[in-house]
Amino acid sequence: MSPKNEVRPSTKKRIAVIPGDGIGKEVIPQAVNVMQATGAALEFTEFDWGADRYLRDGTTVPANGFAMLARDFDAILVGAFGDPRVKTNIHAKEILLGMRFKMDLYANVRPVRLLDAALCPLKNVEPKDVDFVVLRENTEGVYTDAGGVFKQGTPDEIATQEDINTRKGVERIIRYAFDYCRSHKKLDGSPRNKVLMCDKSNAMTHAGGLWQRVFKEISGEYGDIMAQHMYVDALCLQMVRDPRQFDVIVTNNMFGDIITDLAAALQGGLGVAASGNIHPRHTSMFEPVHGSAPPIAGKNIANPFGAILTAAMMLRHLGFTREPDKIEATVLEAVRQKKTTQDIGGTMGTKEAGEWVAEKVRLSS
Ligand code: ATP
Repeated sequence: MSPKNEVRPSTKKRIAVIPGDGIGKEVIPQAVNVMQATGAALEFTEFDWGADRYLRDGTTVPANGFAMLARDFDAILVGAFGDPRVKTNIHAKEILLGMRFKMDLYANVRPVRLLDAALCPLKNVEPKDVDFVVLRENTEGVYTDAGGVFKQGTPDEIATQEDINTRKGVERIIRYAFDYCRSHKKLDGSPRNKVLMCDKSNAMTHAGGLWQRVFKEISGEYGDIMAQHMYVDALCLQMVRDPRQFDVIVTNNMFGDIITDLAAALQGGLGVAASGNIHPRHTSMFEPVHGSAPPIAGKNIANPFGAILTAAMMLRHLGFTREPDKIEATVLEAVRQKKTTQDIGGTMGTKEAGEWVAEKVRLSS
């Protein structure tokens, strides 16, 4: 075969893009534009999974959809799922939880970074004071839908919701937290050195007991990292009282869900919070922390920065460095110059704020 006819594997990173519902459909195109503006070797393929598709033809996830994502793509960028027209939220459950569970994306990585002091509701808090990460177990806990309802609608009704914690699941997320602590630096370049495990083992003794035992065991293997523990209620209080003390927090699925909304408030709200759903050896999925936000959907007012910072996080995961650095620096500049949507003090629309960032990134690339 002549060199001309050789089929070369694409050197471009292949990204599956699933905007989903509500504001997901507004913020994800902005994130894609910004990635394109970096000039990085990326190839995007968009999928229409979401409420519109479900209402049109009943499909939530097409046949072999997750296997296709895992096989054909290097990463997945997702917007949000949830639409008032789908009362059961079945599509959101099957797509989002399906992706997390069936693709085994066990580490939900949620960095909490304050970009600018003006965004923090706390007094005298600087960006250097809020720079921690929450690692949420993403495949177990109360989200497995184990349990049931008995004698529904009668005075004797009983509802149970099982909290599933396996040794394998607890062990791998705790180990991920220690490895993350070793391999990730703070924004100011200083090393991370503390892992805090958060549970409610004083009340949830069986599940908490497993987390306690595994944490003790694994922390023993990482002598260079300080191991700490807090009950989830105390952690909420401390997060507001003094966020400076936190570095890497590891916790279960439900506590991770709750404390990252609180943490998002420290950094300027849900509109700027980014996250990744990661398995170190599988195709991983990245999504802003916010949901589909039906009350503000379709009005060009949703903040696109959470999605744009999520895209930067995805590029970093794929091995890029210059591009995510540039995106993050430009978002910071936008925040400082108030080239933002209203939720963080600006006057721009979703599209305009996204385009401002894309243009700056393009000019400096
Ligand atoms: P979910 O249950 O999936 O978390 P939800 O609709 O209950 O979704 P969110 O979508 O996270 O919750 O949003 C809650 C509220 O936060 C929104 O109604 C909106 O006021 C605000 N919000 C969320 N995301 C953004 C954003 N990107 N820009 C501006 N405001 C936002």
